Amino acid sequence: SGAGAEAVLLRHLWRKLRASGPVTVAEYMREALTNPAQGYYTRRGGIGESGDFITSPEISQVFGELIGIWFISEWMATGKPSSFQLVELGPGRGTLTEDILRVFNQLTSVLSKCDVSVHLVEVSPKLSEIQARMLTGGKVQPNTEDKSAYMEGVSKTGIPIFWYRDIQDVPPGYSFYLAHEFFDALPIHKFQRTEKGWREVLVDIDPEVPDQLRFVLSPSSTPGTENFIQPEEARDHVEVCPEAGVIVQRLACRIEKDGGAALVADYGHDGTKTDTFRGFRNHKLHDVLSAPGTADLTADVDFSYLRKMTQERTTTLGPIKQREFLKNMGIDLRLQVLLQNSRDTATREQLLHSYDMLMNPEKMGDCFNFFALLPHHRLVQPESKSPLLPVAGFNELLLK
Ligand code: SAH
Repeated sequence: SGAGAEAVLLRHLWRKLRASGPVTVAEYMREALTNPAQGYYTRRGGIGESGDFITSPEISQVFGELIGIWFISEWMATGKPSSFQLVELGPGRGTLTEDILRVFNQLTSVLSKCDVSVHLVEVSPKLSEIQARMLTGGKVQPNTEDKSAYMEGVSKTGIPIFWYRDIQDVPPGYSFYLAHEFFDALPIHKFQRTEKGWREVLVDIDPEVPDQLRFVLSPSSTPGTENFIQPEEARDHVEVCPEAGVIVQRLACRIEKDGGAALVADYGHDGTKTDTFRGFRNHKLHDVLSAPGTADLTADVDFSYLRKMTQERTTTLGPIKQREFLKNMGIDLRLQVLLQNSRDTATREQLLHSYDMLMNPEKMGDCFNFFALLPHHRLVQPESKSPLLPVAGFNELLLK
């Protein structure tokens, strides 16, 4: 995207702000990321080494393999139902699903009688194209009639794949949901405590500098300050992502009704952090208000808020640190096997380097968290039944 394209979204926002006044950070973030013509994910979506930010599945195939094993382990622990849907929210380049499907394919002896389908929730036409190429080799058909999926195809391993814009369009049924670096991309509202009470942070034009944006505080309370701030709130600055809340509520309802599990992995906190809104471009921090549409904008996920929004329809586990989750899933053993099987030093160095990226507390090991939603009956044992298996990842993996 050249300099011309960058200016289009900024000019659109500038005109809008001048005409109708400041907007919430959530509205600004939604425009910058998913504006149908000029949004960052719509046009650019630069995930990977050559892009703007790198994610765990892009660093190492082991990451997706262990997550694939997590789903199999949950499927086995709940009595191997005859079918399941794998539903991924925000699949990026499709790498994570690709790695999971490779594991499913390697375990055909275990999964042979199970009817598996893949359902991807993706708003970006550009990224859905990249996913289709990665997963099906490009053999997909667009659905124009009023089908719920806008595209469908078959994976290289023979599993049907469907694309949707919204989780609500995914058919009901026993499902495993996966959201990796998805919730952090959803629009947040920001609030600031002042002497006169809570005020919402808004985005406005800078009257002094043409084409520049700035933050201002709402002059009085807003629907956001009324609805999203808890009376017992102790922080002075708070970020809330209502869209994440709505999606978690839907996941919880679906899991309560049809069974399955949801695995959420993201950087975040448990209701303790304050100002985490930031931008990334070419792997460097980027001013969130400059050149909207050209940088990834993100905010830490508040897991305490997600937990609250399940409304106790499901049990939740975590958040636990990525390095603990992956250790419990057996990453060390997997690394040893891969090291033994690789002859050349370059491959071995690459394996050790990517392990360090995922596990080192200074890198992704500590700031990334795993969080799960499970049906209550998965963890509470009815008296008559045999003992329940511990949930892998949050405990040590038992099936080896
Ligand atoms: N999970 C991938 C990509 C993370 S980037 C990885 O870890 O590599 C965020 C992803 O969510 C992108 O695919 C983006 O297009 C998608 N996305 C952002 N907002 C969305 C929304 N509201 N609904 C569906 N997908 C969305």
